[in-house]
Amino acid sequence: MDKVGETTLHIDLNALEHNYMFLKSKLKGDTKFLAVVKAFAYGSDMVVIAQKLESLEVDYLAVAYVKEGVLLREAGIKLPILVLHPQPTNFGELIDHSLEPSLYSPKILTLFLEVAADKKLKEYPVHIKFNTGLNRLGFWENDVDYILKHLQERNELKILSVFSHLAASEDSKEKEFSNVQINIFKKICEDISQKLGSVPFRHMLNTSGIINYPEAQFEMVRSGIGLYGYGNDAQIDAELKPVATLKTIISQMHKIEPHESVGYNRAYKSDRYRITATLPLGHADGIGRQYGNGKAHVYINGKKAPIIGNVCMDMIMVDVTEIDCKEGDEVIVFGENYSAEDFAASANTISYEILTAISSRVKRVVTQ
Ligand SMILES: *Cc1c(COP(=O)(O)O)cnc(C)c1O
Repeated sequence: MDKVGETTLHIDLNALEHNYMFLKSKLKGDTKFLAVVKAFAYGSDMVVIAQKLESLEVDYLAVAYVKEGVLLREAGIKLPILVLHPQPTNFGELIDHSLEPSLYSPKILTLFLEVAADKKLKEYPVHIKFNTGLNRLGFWENDVDYILKHLQERNELKILSVFSHLAASEDSKEKEFSNVQINIFKKICEDISQKLGSVPFRHMLNTSGIINYPEAQFEMVRSGIGLYGYGNDAQIDAELKPVATLKTIISQMHKIEPHESVGYNRAYKSDRYRITATLPLGHADGIGRQYGNGKAHVYINGKKAPIIGNVCMDMIMVDVTEIDCKEGDEVIVFGENYSAEDFAASANTISYEILTAISSRVKRVVTQ
């Protein structure tokens, strides 16, 4: 990795390939793999990641919103793309870009059907989402008849798959609940297949599901965080490689006398002589204020430098009193050698949040 001259998010496509192979090794030979690239591929670079995944021959991609799928199509991505949470206002655009909607409620189903009829679609692929306990999106178990009543005897839409989502796949204390979800899902799938007379493919597992519920792979799994190098489990993390590494540099050093303050609202007051370094990244770059005031630290020349005072919009200040460093030196915020999971945990949050928070202002550099 080259030395940086400004705040930079390094994206390592070899790490992505490594993680994909690791996750694939947990699957039966014929289980399909859907790679989740929503939220700019978990804050990295959606197009670059999708291109790499296409070259690795994943079976499917998923995004949350239509806009994200449109960006992928405009970049020439040909894989089937499932849109997990489409809004009716974007249905036309979704169809024009050959994106495949998750239909998750009676309202969404009937509105999509209207657009499909308007556009005279034939057997347009759709995916039916069932709620089995997360209580977020999805039809209920007893909506099967309603769904089929609307779809049978007309040919605008074709149910390509049926899916659901676990509420606590990473939590070993919730095994019983997860197994109840899996059994409800199985029952729904049987019911649908029987009444439909054909068998849509089934998927339920996210990354932690792949690790903890291998018996529930069905025909496809959907992985996001694992591809980016995190597994919600220290043992799995050890097998994965972080795709994104956030680095910055020291802009300026300050000598702080006892009883002086540092930063806005004088939130940090020094008890003794200290040296601080000011770094060119702040809450506008994704490092939220919860990381300030001693909660999180970064690494400079292999040593921990705590963030002191309030996080500013464009800067943070760190304590480097005990670190041999100078202006221009490199700073590791998270990634290789210091996981985003650990950085996030210091402010009581999770890898998903810090990864997806890194704003578009931060330069991206991709290593093949
Ligand atoms: C985001 C998402 C995933 C990916 O979950 P990870 O924990 O990142 O693997 C899978 N399925 C659905 C429905 C999602 O919203």
